[in-house]
Amino acid sequence: MVWGIENSRELYGLKGVLNSQLFDINEKGQLVIRIKNKEIPVAELLEKHDLPGANIRVLPWIGLMIDYIAGLFIEYIKNYGYRGSFKPVYPLKVNHNDMVLTSIKRYGEKYGWGWEAGTLPEIQKALSYRTRGLFVVDGVKDLKGLEKVVMNKEAFGEAIIDIESIKEAKLLDKIREKLGEKIRVGLRIRPMFRGESIWSSSSGLTSKFGLPLSSIYKILDEQPWIRDRIVMLHFHYGSQIVTKKALEKMFTEMINTYAVLKSELLPGLKYIDTGGGLAFDYESSCSGSAYSPDYTFKEYVETMINIFKEKSKEYGIEEPDIVFESGRAIVAPHRISVAKVVDIRPYISDLTTDVELVDKIRSAKTIKELSDIARESENIINRLLSYTDNIDLKRREILEGLIETLYREITRKAKDLYLENKEALSQLEENIRMGRPLYKFLVSPSKRFVLSFSIFSILPDYVILNQYFQPVPCTKLDKKPDVLAAISDITCDSMGEISEYISSLPKGFTEIFTEKDNRLLGIPGKRVILRGIPLHLPSGDEEYYVAFLHTGAYQDPLSMSHNMINNYPEIIIDEDDKGDIIISYKDSSRDDYPL
Ligand SMILES: *Cc1c(COP(=O)(O)O)cnc(C)c1O
Repeated sequence: MVWGIENSRELYGLKGVLNSQLFDINEKGQLVIRIKNKEIPVAELLEKHDLPGANIRVLPWIGLMIDYIAGLFIEYIKNYGYRGSFKPVYPLKVNHNDMVLTSIKRYGEKYGWGWEAGTLPEIQKALSYRTRGLFVVDGVKDLKGLEKVVMNKEAFGEAIIDIESIKEAKLLDKIREKLGEKIRVGLRIRPMFRGESIWSSSSGLTSKFGLPLSSIYKILDEQPWIRDRIVMLHFHYGSQIVTKKALEKMFTEMINTYAVLKSELLPGLKYIDTGGGLAFDYESSCSGSAYSPDYTFKEYVETMINIFKEKSKEYGIEEPDIVFESGRAIVAPHRISVAKVVDIRPYISDLTTDVELVDKIRSAKTIKELSDIARESENIINRLLSYTDNIDLKRREILEGLIETLYREITRKAKDLYLENKEALSQLEENIRMGRPLYKFLVSPSKRFVLSFSIFSILPDYVILNQYFQPVPCTKLDKKPDVLAAISDITCDSMGEISEYISSLPKGFTEIFTEKDNRLLGIPGKRVILRGIPLHLPSGDEEYYVAFLHTGAYQDPLSMSHNMINNYPEIIIDEDDKGDIIISYKDSSRDDYPL
């Protein structure tokens, strides 16, 4: 069997509704950015200016996501006869980069996109990107910020000031005179249902955010004037809510709370701010894991609107306007982070040691037999590794060689057994499912690739929460990957390493072993976590780059400057008024230069 680019599309997740629109592989095996019927090879963008790495920003993709998601809402609202309207706002927290905000304003204008800001600097920034849309101020953290909004209120379509404590209601009362009659208030509700995501501490009765019911009563009691100004309930269950079941629970809680409060206490309610939470499929596998929702964007919209409509009918209330406040899904795709491989090292060793066990490995007839030998080998390795006292060079050489030899022989044998007899697949799968030692051998890296970047600076959420960002080689995609490799960055920090790869090969995929180190690329029809990234060994002086996809949400604001590595060069892909593509380079260590 020969490896083709279709295999690479499957292995590296360049498929599915979204990724197949954004990326492809050309006949030279290069990863390309697809835009306006053009294909731009990623590696060539970097080679052109001899960059060690860069963040590539594809600004029209922000427009693509806006059109896509707004389109789903508008269409479904119309087709389903929902009587509330769609009011999108962009939360600055997700990425406040000026190019991002300019793009949100530019592409969001026709849908009336507004802003959500929570801090004084965010409020100031949002004020410089005025739109006709809503302006949700999340919390009255200080009066200075609020006054800024109030003084600028003419500049905005509509401002809504959210309160989330009794103290904030008091603060609001202090500037009531200045607020005038127009200003409107939202209540940030503390959700009871916990959102079931990595960030679900944003919800639940002990959450940091939002008002418990008792405080709402107290506010209305102490500040009776506020009742008439309250137009919105604001919910946020945390970012990246990955299951449809969780969506159903949260939308139900939202509309139930809204309906009861509107009927019994707050007749002026008109909006539900549904917060963030729309999850992005970083794995491109729809698996329901932390970085891959089990629902589509379309299902998110349909689930929300169906529940809101049914429940509104049940309670006999008008259907609320929907404030959509997700940012992650809108901006995640627009940034691709690329880094050059500057060194390739052995993961353990390059030595070989003669050991009797090798004969036994070579004569194994089945995966089951091999699995038992792998267990024996693991025990031997663990025992040897525990003797580090008084180890001389000779012993160390034998030890390094022994471990490497066992890895090499066991993986080679597994591949041979698979090639001889495809029945071996189910045995392999069982080893993976049971977490047996053979599995560890088969998914372990044999190389360490050093990339000229800082994970702290480019992918901070990997360091903070082990967030998955899809790695894809920028060239050689017409060839089978040679090895599984751990990726190291150039910081002096052991956390600067990525060695997890999520593989979701489709059923019927047959090329499941790497070319050179005989490691597993996955199991067809299963989601498998590999302990190394499938990569190619570049030949001679060949440049080899690795891209990490979808790094546009949160990574810019959270970027750290560990080891003074920051300010990565930027390659900006934009369009002019005529819709022609323009590519420009920005490198803060040099002068800006146009291409
Ligand atoms: C973080 C945050 C958002 C954005 O959520 P995403 O799911 O990451 O898009 C929206 N609203 C509030 C209140 C937030 O704190």
